[in-house]
Amino acid sequence: LVSRMRPFGTTIFAEMSALAVRTGAVNLGQGFPDTDGPPEMLAAAAEALGSGRNQYPPGPGIPELRTAVAEHQRRFWGLDYDPDGEVVITAGATEAVAAAILALCEPGDEVVCFEPYYDSYAASIALAGAVRRPVTLRPDPDGRYAFDPAALRAAFGPRTRLVLLNSPHNPTGKVFTPAELALVAQLCQEHDAYAVTDEVYEHLVFTDATGGHLPLATLPGMRARTLRISSAGKTFSCTGWKVGWASGPAALVSAVLRVKQFLTFVNAAPLQPAVAVALALPDAYFTEFRDGLQARRDQLVGGLTDAGFQVLTPEGTYFVTADVSALGGTDGVEFCRTLPERCGVVAVPTQVFYDDPEAGRRLVRFAFCKRPEVLTEAASRLRAAR
Ligand code: PMP
Ligand code: GLN
Repeated sequence: LVSRMRPFGTTIFAEMSALAVRTGAVNLGQGFPDTDGPPEMLAAAAEALGSGRNQYPPGPGIPELRTAVAEHQRRFWGLDYDPDGEVVITAGATEAVAAAILALCEPGDEVVCFEPYYDSYAASIALAGAVRRPVTLRPDPDGRYAFDPAALRAAFGPRTRLVLLNSPHNPTGKVFTPAELALVAQLCQEHDAYAVTDEVYEHLVFTDATGGHLPLATLPGMRARTLRISSAGKTFSCTGWKVGWASGPAALVSAVLRVKQFLTFVNAAPLQPAVAVALALPDAYFTEFRDGLQARRDQLVGGLTDAGFQVLTPEGTYFVTADVSALGGTDGVEFCRTLPERCGVVAVPTQVFYDDPEAGRRLVRFAFCKRPEVLTEAASRLRAAR
């Protein structure tokens, strides 16, 4: 194995899901829903499979899906992208992030990101021979994750190539505020950097405090330098399909496509028309989806609080983080490794998403994208273990 990949072991998600299977624990670790997505989408996939749409589709994705991606972004975020040239379909958001970094970063270029970060970011940056410059998110006294603006400023420098921004943010559930986004935008422009935004949780914002989801590309001057990434997995409860996309100015999208064609060439043909159907669902689908997850967030936050955790209520995503100190935990990794045998629940230690493990030492993440009865069972097991 090449030296740049040696620091990366098995992903924490695979490790924790295997632990859940081995111990029969309730799996609130890996973030995947335990119910299927919209029936219209599933029917469209079955129809496509049965009607011969099973050969290589076009490299950038089928036109009907690129059009649906563009129309969805216009409908929800007022962003205009040309489906021919400004949208590319990828193997999930993961491939879009990897292809973007490989396409834009020379060895030694720096990528500003926020830690804790989604695990694939560090690996993609390393594969490109680039260097990550993490800015730490920490819980403030109000229980909101925040960063020091001076630290963000200091992370930018002459080698900054791009900032990788994930909002709503996994694993913290933080939704970046308009003021925070404005600072990111300002620094990108001052340093002539690109922004790559991972917005897979774009429809899961539970607070009005931030004005809902605000794509960085909508800020003045940012459309021209932002590659906006999202995926069907979260919004349509089909994480196993791995259909994602990137949108941005033609030069950025064609750079991504140049790399993407040699990573995966094209993506699953029959799933593409189905995701096009899902993206065109009426507004009510998206509202009900969010309201459903918000109710389950509230349920799990209540359950964890009753079980003695100090909970950091998330503003978005599938996830809630909690501090385990109140339960006598001093280390999240240790806590999560022993939780299945203690009470039959799996969670993910947040520490593994930090370069500075001290910053996340006592934090663990629970997924609430599960059926209410599953969350009830998990909460009662955790309470009993107290
Ligand atoms: N980014 C973030 C922040 C995620 O939480 C995930 C997990 N769904 C991904 C990217 C990967 O998305 P996909 O499965 O579409 O590759
Ligand atoms: N995005 C999901 C999570 O954060 C799953 C990711 C994965 O398994 N790679 O849990």
